[in-house]
Amino acid sequence: MSEQQFDVVVIGGGPAGYPAAIRAAQLGLSVACVDDWLNADGTRQFGGTCLNVGCIPSKALLESSELFHRAGSEFAAHGIALDGVALDLDAMQGRKQRIVKQLTAGIEALFKSAGVTAIKSRGRLLGENRVEVAGDDGSKRVLGAGHVVLATGSTPVELSVAPFDGKRIVDSAGALEFSEVPERLGVIGAGVIGLELGSVWRRLGSEVVLLEALDTFLPMVDEDVARDALKQFKRQGLDIRLGARVTRAKAVRDGVTVNYEAGGKKERVKFDKLIVCVGRRPVTDGLLAPEAGVDVDGKGFIVVDESCRTSAANVWAVGDVVRGPMLAHKGTEEGVMAAELIAGHVAEMNYATIPSVIYTAPEIAWVGQTEAEVRENGRDCKVGTFPFSANGRAKALHQDAGLVKLIADREYDEILGLHIVGPMAGELVAEAVLAMEFSASAEDLQRTIHAHPTLTEALHEAALAADKRAIHALNR
Ligand code: NAD
Repeated sequence: MSEQQFDVVVIGGGPAGYPAAIRAAQLGLSVACVDDWLNADGTRQFGGTCLNVGCIPSKALLESSELFHRAGSEFAAHGIALDGVALDLDAMQGRKQRIVKQLTAGIEALFKSAGVTAIKSRGRLLGENRVEVAGDDGSKRVLGAGHVVLATGSTPVELSVAPFDGKRIVDSAGALEFSEVPERLGVIGAGVIGLELGSVWRRLGSEVVLLEALDTFLPMVDEDVARDALKQFKRQGLDIRLGARVTRAKAVRDGVTVNYEAGGKKERVKFDKLIVCVGRRPVTDGLLAPEAGVDVDGKGFIVVDESCRTSAANVWAVGDVVRGPMLAHKGTEEGVMAAELIAGHVAEMNYATIPSVIYTAPEIAWVGQTEAEVRENGRDCKVGTFPFSANGRAKALHQDAGLVKLIADREYDEILGLHIVGPMAGELVAEAVLAMEFSASAEDLQRTIHAHPTLTEALHEAALAADKRAIHALNR
C-alpha cells in the first residue's frame, strides 16, 4: 500500500466537512476530502445529506409547492384570475434535481480552486492519523495525515415497528422522490422533517396525517409560537395527532396500514405512502478502527470538547456526528473552527446563538432561549410580542399570520431569545442572531432604524413592546 501525506484529511464532504477542507486549504495546508456519498442514480457527489437529499432539495420542493398552493388559493385575492392551475410534478422534480446538481458540482469546483484533493471513496481512520481509503473496485490505500477531521454526518432513525422498504414506507430522502402525489400520506413524527415534508405534499394535494408520540407539539419551540403555528397548520388541513404511539406499520398490496394507540384507544389507518421521520442518528459505522482511539458515547456520537477535539491526538470531529443540534450551519461553523485551530489560529464558536428554522408556511425561526427556559434558569425577564397582522408589508404579501416574540433580561435588558412564526421568519431571525452575537439589549433593537414597510419592523415593534412602547399595537 502506498502512503500519500496530507496536512489534513477530512472524512465526510457534507456541510461540516467540505467547509473544513476549504478553510484549511485557504490557510495554506495540504488537504484531502474523502467522501463516499452514493446517489440513487449511481453518481457520487460531495455535499452529504444537506445538498443531495436534505436541505436543498426539500427547500426546492417547499418553494415550488408553496407557489402552486398560492396560485390556486391566494392569487384571486390579489385580483389575478387564473384559468385553473395544473401540476407538472415531473417538471417540479426536474427543477429540484438541477439545483442539487449545480450545487454539488459547485463543491468540486470550489475544491479545485482551493487546491483540495477530492477523493470519492470510503474513508476509515486507522491509528496514528492514518486514513485508509477504499475504492469501489476493492482497492485500498493509506493516506498519512497531520490532522484528521471526522465529519460523517447522520442518517434517519429506523423504527423496528415500521421498517423502511423504500417504496411505501420511506425516509425523508424517499419522500422527496415521489413520482406522483399520494392521495393519503401518513407521517410518523411531527418534528422538523415531518412538518416540512408533510407541508410539501399537503400543498400538492395529499391528505396528510401526522402521528406524533409526544403530547406536546414542537417542545423545543417557544410555547406561544408553537401554539400559533399548530393553529395555522391545522387550518391548512394538516391532521396532526398528538400522543399517538405507532405500534405497527405494514406495507400491503395497495398501501400501508398503521396501527397506533392514542388516549388509551387502539386505532388503525391506511395510507398510500408513509414517511418515517423520528429523528436522525450519527454515522460512525466502519469509520473507526479499534486502534484509532476515538471515544464514542452511548448514543453513537463522537465525543468532543468545545473546540471539537476528540479523545485522539490531532483528530477532530464536527457536524451531526457530534453533540449539539443537527443543523448544517452548526456543522459548517464547527468545520471552519477546527480548520483554523489546526492551522494554529485562535477560534471558537458561540453555541448560544445558533439559529433554528422550520421551513413550513408560515416559517418558524428562533435563536436563544424560550420563555420557559429563561424562567427555568431563574432569570427575571420581560417579553414583547408583535403580530404580523399589524405589519403593512405582511398585509401586502397576503401573509399576515403569526407573531414575533422577544425575551430580554428585566434588569440588564440583554436579549435572551427571539422567536418568530410568520413570513420569511428564517431570513428575519438573522437580525436577532447578529444582535445576540453582539450581546445587544432590547434598547439597541429599539434604537435601530428599520426600513418601512418591511417585515423587519415586526422585530422592532416586538423590542419596543418589551418596554410597553410599541407604536402599532396595544401595550398590555
Ligand atoms: P425531530 O427530532 O425534529 O422530530 C422527530 C419527531 O418524531 C419528534 O417530535 C418525536 O417526538 C417524534 N417521534 C419519535 N419517535 C416516534 C414514534 N415512535 N412515533 C411517533 N412519533 C415519534 O427529527 P426529524 O424531523 O426526523 O429531523 C431530524 C434532524 O434533522 C433534526 O435534528 C432536525 O433538526 C434536523 N433537520 C433540520 C431541518 C431544518 O433545520 N429546517 C430540516 C430537516 C431536518
